[in-house]
Amino acid sequence: MDFEIPQEVETLRKNIQSFITEEIIPLEKHYDYEKGRMPEDINQQARAKVKSAGFWTPHLPKSEGGLGLDLIGTCIIFSELGRSPIAPYIFNCDAPDEGNMHLLSLAASEKQKELILHPLIKGELRTGFAMTEPSPGAGSDPTSLQTNAEKQGDKYILNGRKWYCTGANGAKYLIVMAKVNGSFRKTTMFLVPTDAKGYTMVREIELMGSHGPGGHCELNFENVEVPEDMILGRVGEGFRLSQERLGPARLTHCMRWTGMARRALSIARSYAKEREVFSARIADHQGIQWMFAERATEIEMAFLLTLKAAWLLKMGKDARQETSMAKWKVSESLCNTIDMAIQICGGKGYSRDLPLELFYRDARAARIADGPSEVHKMVIGRNYVSEKWDF
Ligand SMILES: Cc1cc2nc3c(=O)[nH]c(=O)nc-3n(C[C@H](O)[C@H](O)[C@H](O)COP(=O)(O)OP(=O)(O)OC[C@H]3O[C@@H](n4cnc5c(N)ncnc54)[C@H](O)[C@@H]3O)c2cc1C
Repeated sequence: MDFEIPQEVETLRKNIQSFITEEIIPLEKHYDYEKGRMPEDINQQARAKVKSAGFWTPHLPKSEGGLGLDLIGTCIIFSELGRSPIAPYIFNCDAPDEGNMHLLSLAASEKQKELILHPLIKGELRTGFAMTEPSPGAGSDPTSLQTNAEKQGDKYILNGRKWYCTGANGAKYLIVMAKVNGSFRKTTMFLVPTDAKGYTMVREIELMGSHGPGGHCELNFENVEVPEDMILGRVGEGFRLSQERLGPARLTHCMRWTGMARRALSIARSYAKEREVFSARIADHQGIQWMFAERATEIEMAFLLTLKAAWLLKMGKDARQETSMAKWKVSESLCNTIDMAIQICGGKGYSRDLPLELFYRDARAARIADGPSEVHKMVIGRNYVSEKWDF
């Protein structure tokens, strides 16, 4: 296996690293703690700068305005972007839009691409992905899906309730997972404009971390009419397409999270090198060096797992096992690292003088969203026991 980063990717990584350090991290001081998000005017000014620097939508092919990176290059660049929690949206490669771009490029018709994908790539609109439902609906277990679409002539009548739809407040279109005529086997993705009659954004859910530009929302669909030509892919392809979307989207989360873990660790290093306790720098105490050793090794292992899964996908191979391993381990190492960084920074780490308390709250979702750790462990264990997967 070749671990060398191609020269052009390394050059790009360095350029993006400087851009994040000089242009993006200083903007974090504008983060609105009351609202749990960045002011949108600052986001938009920064987005314009990213476009003129030529870094916009880095994950897309050059023909679609991106940087033409393969999945390994995307890993390396997304990990740099992940150093700032505000960067992925500013570069137009944050969840859920980045995963939705991938899904729409795979499955959308030309008309749907014109309507949704192309403006999404340009940053002219936002989208949401609505799968999770309040109890007793779909969550960890997608087979509990309740939302249903009844076929009536050349349209479908959609009814159901969703929640935790990231970005839905202010999004123009939603990708909604629903059964068809009550049949789970016919689960399908529907493209629903948010001005459709019968659709309500019930509320932005109050939660512990950032809200992004459109929150994490609860939604209601009451007799929403969806024309046949707004089905994404074909009837019954919902779960196959969701795997196509969620696999790479879980990995891109991992890529961004390793960047955030690296930044947390480096904030702790700076503090530990500068502050003296008991006649020595904090960094000179062996107990602290071991803490750095544990977390640095854990981040490196987690990043290598992410790279391995990305490499398998790039080779067109099945990467479901490695993606679950990466999702589980990266999210846990992110939470462990931030927790330890706060500890090393003492009272300052707990304050808003450092961004660690924000990282801590944001990172907690990583062990739940896109499949809780327990579900990924269940999948990994089952695959091993049944010998579907082996070393
Ligand atoms: C910040 C954030 C953003 C999100 N964005 C989106 C989005 O854009 N679109 C979307 O559709 N969804 C989104 N989600 C929802 C997310 O994917 C779900 O929360 C997740 O899949 C878990 O489903 P649930 O909340 O219904 O938990 P439940 O299914 O109620 O599970 C609760 C807990 O039970 C345990 N558990 C579950 N299964 C097992 C098992 N087999 N063995 C042992 N323990 C188990 C786990 O600890 C789990 O956390 C988001 C969630 C968060 C927190």
